[in-house]
Amino acid sequence: MKKNKTPAADHQLLKAIPKVDEFLGWINDEGQDAPLRLVKKAVRQLLDDVRQAILGGEEQSAVALDKSRLLPRFHQRLDKLMAPHFRTVINATGVVVHTNMGRSLLPDSAMAGIVAAGGRYSNLEFDLATGKRGSRYSLVEELLCELTGAEAGLVVNNNAAAVLLALDTLANGREAIVSRGQLVEIGGSFRIPDVMEKSGARLVEVGATNRTHLRDYEQAISQETALLLKVHTSNYKMIGFTSEVPLEELVALGRKEGLAVMEDLGSGSFIDLSRFGLDREPTVQEVVKSGADVITFSGDKLLGGPQAGLSVGRRDIIARF
Ligand SMILES: *Cc1c(COP(=O)(O)O)cnc(C)c1O
Repeated sequence: MKKNKTPAADHQLLKAIPKVDEFLGWINDEGQDAPLRLVKKAVRQLLDDVRQAILGGEEQSAVALDKSRLLPRFHQRLDKLMAPHFRTVINATGVVVHTNMGRSLLPDSAMAGIVAAGGRYSNLEFDLATGKRGSRYSLVEELLCELTGAEAGLVVNNNAAAVLLALDTLANGREAIVSRGQLVEIGGSFRIPDVMEKSGARLVEVGATNRTHLRDYEQAISQETALLLKVHTSNYKMIGFTSEVPLEELVALGRKEGLAVMEDLGSGSFIDLSRFGLDREPTVQEVVKSGADVITFSGDKLLGGPQAGLSVGRRDIIARF
């Protein structure tokens, strides 16, 4: 039966709930090393819980308000508040590079490098040869170019940011043409149409979900077109009656029409995974070779590094990011 009014007995119980200061007195001498702010938060949460339980009729006995009952509950709460938010977990999903579980694990040598670099001063933004301020980006750019064969490269915090920067640079206020089969969503927060909108580029969808042809791109090109965008669909597969336009053909079309061509490669790999019996993924080197102006990919997917977004491509474009 639902009670509309709090019965008198409950009022007695409610009045018996210790005040926050009183409760703090109980625990003062127990050698807490938690910050007072968290201790108070735990006390308030606990007393609020007790109050709600009484109001809801779930708690009707004064025994629950005993110091001996409340203190263990307080400590449980405090432990929870003190526990680090970031924890290691066991990945039992069967997905090795799991988007929600830290993705690629770093090898010991990389971990050792991070520990050594993070706890020491370094030449991160200092040119040791000239003794002057250097660029944060130059150290890694050289390596990226060497590994991928690209002219220039830039590292930002994740691939979503790399894509946003590239779209903003190449197509803000103008049109970018994308196949309908490539308007992907990654992990819920990254969707090609949404990123496009944020960048200020206007999305022009072409083709059908399963098939897009070169003539679809050709017919969509207008005065407003700035970019031909290809998105590598690394997290889902279409099978059956499908076709997409190879990057080489998009590059040729872009050259002919004076348009930039970009590929969001998603999970950029530097090695051919089919050697290990896995599905073949285009390597970054191959995509660079095919002539795309900008290629973006994640540092922490197949590349196996820390969270990062990598862009490589034409020097004059990367310089404008
Ligand atoms: C994963 C992925 C992204 C987003 O990369 P983050 O590193 O998670 O920001 C963008 N585009 C494609 C095609 C992807 O696969």
